[in-house]
Amino acid sequence: MISISESKVKMEEAKKYIPGGVASSLRSSMKPVPLYVQDASGARVVDVNNNVYIDYLLAYGPLILGHAHPDLTRNIHEALLRGSTYGLQHDGEIRLAKRLTEILPCADQVAFSGSGTEAVMLALRLARAYTGKTKIVRFYGHYHGWSDSIFTSFPSPDFGSVQKDSLLSAAAPGTGGQSNGSLQELILLPWNDPDALEKALNEHSHDIAAVITEPVMCNSGCIAPKPGYMAFMREITSRMGIVLIWDEVITGFRFGLGGAHERFGIQPDLVTIGKAMAGGIPLSAVAGKKEILQLIEEGKVLHLGTLNGNSLSTAAGLTVIDTLSKDGSFAFSKLEAMAVMLAEGIRTLLKNKRISGVVNQLGPVFHVMFIDREEVSDFDTFNLRDTQAYTFFTEKLLEEGVLIRQTGLWYVSTAHGEAEVKETLQAIDRVLDKMK
Ligand code: PLP
Repeated sequence: MISISESKVKMEEAKKYIPGGVASSLRSSMKPVPLYVQDASGARVVDVNNNVYIDYLLAYGPLILGHAHPDLTRNIHEALLRGSTYGLQHDGEIRLAKRLTEILPCADQVAFSGSGTEAVMLALRLARAYTGKTKIVRFYGHYHGWSDSIFTSFPSPDFGSVQKDSLLSAAAPGTGGQSNGSLQELILLPWNDPDALEKALNEHSHDIAAVITEPVMCNSGCIAPKPGYMAFMREITSRMGIVLIWDEVITGFRFGLGGAHERFGIQPDLVTIGKAMAGGIPLSAVAGKKEILQLIEEGKVLHLGTLNGNSLSTAAGLTVIDTLSKDGSFAFSKLEAMAVMLAEGIRTLLKNKRISGVVNQLGPVFHVMFIDREEVSDFDTFNLRDTQAYTFFTEKLLEEGVLIRQTGLWYVSTAHGEAEVKETLQAIDRVLDKMK
C-alpha cells in the first residue's frame, strides 16, 4: 500500500490558514485525503510522497494537452516576458477572438472572462437584456457554475417523486448563504423530456429569457441527448423568442474544435466555453450571435473583469487551438479512441467479473457507475448508483497509481497514450477483484 502521509501533514497545516484546507469545496471530497502535488508532466502527476499517478482528473477538465505541455509552457512564458496583463488592449485578444469566430460555428463575436461561472453569468445577463424577460430554464443534473442566480442543489432521490404536472418546482439553494431571491427566476425541468419542455415553454414563454443546457449531461452520468431532443429545443426556443444557451464549458474543445454544437450540427444563440480552452490557464468566454453580444457595445449590458483578456490567457488559448488543430482532427480522434478503449475495457472487466455497472461514453469523456441497471439514460436512474462503491473504487485505484475524480467523470488528454490505457485497465482489473 502506498503512503500519502505527507499530503495528510500538509492538509493539517493548510487547515490552519485556509478554510477546509482546499481552494475549491469540491476538492475536499477526495478520499482518503486531498492530495498535494509536487510535480506534473504529460499524463502524470507526482504527489509529495513521490507517488506517481496517471491522471484522469486533469484538474476537472482543463488539461486537454496534459500537464506542462512544452509549447503551452513556452508561449505563456514568452507572453509573460512582455507583461502579464495591461488593463489595455493587445493583439492577442483580437487574434484569439478572430480564431474562435472561425472555429465555433455559432460565433460572430466573443466576450472574454476568467471562469466558466463568469461566462454563464454574462450569458444569462445578455439573454435577459436581449429579450426583456427574466426567467431562465435550466435542467436537473446540469451544472453551470456557482453564482447565486443559477446554482441550485439537485433534489437527488426525491426527484423521482416529482409529478409531471408540478414540473416547475422551486429551485433549492445549492449552498448556505445563497440568496433565495435570485433563484426565483429559475424554472427547473427534467432534461431529455421534450414534453416537459414544451409544456413549460407554452405556459411561460412570455417570461422566459433563456434556456440553458449542457449539450451532453456530462456532470451527471455523461448522458447523451435523445435523438431529436436538442433540435427540438432549438426549434421551440427560436419559435418562442427565447435565447438558447449551450454551456460548453466541458464539451468545448473536447468534442472537437467547434465543440458539441459543431458535432451535433445545431446552432445555439450563445455558447459558454472555458476549462480546456486555455489548457489550464484561467480563461472563459461567451460566444455567439452579434445581435446579442452587441448589447455590450451599446452599453446596455456591462461586461467587467480586471483580468479579462490578459495576455497569458490569450497566448494559452491560441496555443491550445494551434496544437489541437495541427493535424486536422487527429487530436480529437486520438482523445476519443482512448476514451473508447478505456470505456470498453472497463465494461468488459465488469462483465467478466459479474459486477453490476454502466460506463457511459460520448466523445472523449466517460462516466463509470456501479449500478444494477443495463443503462443509465436519465437523471433519476443516475441517482440510484452506488456512490460508496465508487468511493472505494477511487481509493483503491489511487493506491494502484491511477487518479480519478470522485464523482465519476473521466477526462483524457493528448498526453495519454496506449501505455497509460493498458496500465490503467490492469489496475482496474486488480481493484475490481477487491470489489467482488
Ligand atoms: N459549466 C459547466 C458545464 C461546468 O462543468 C462548470 C464547471 O465544472 C462550469 C460551468 C463552471 O466553470 P468554472 O468552474 O470555471 O467556474
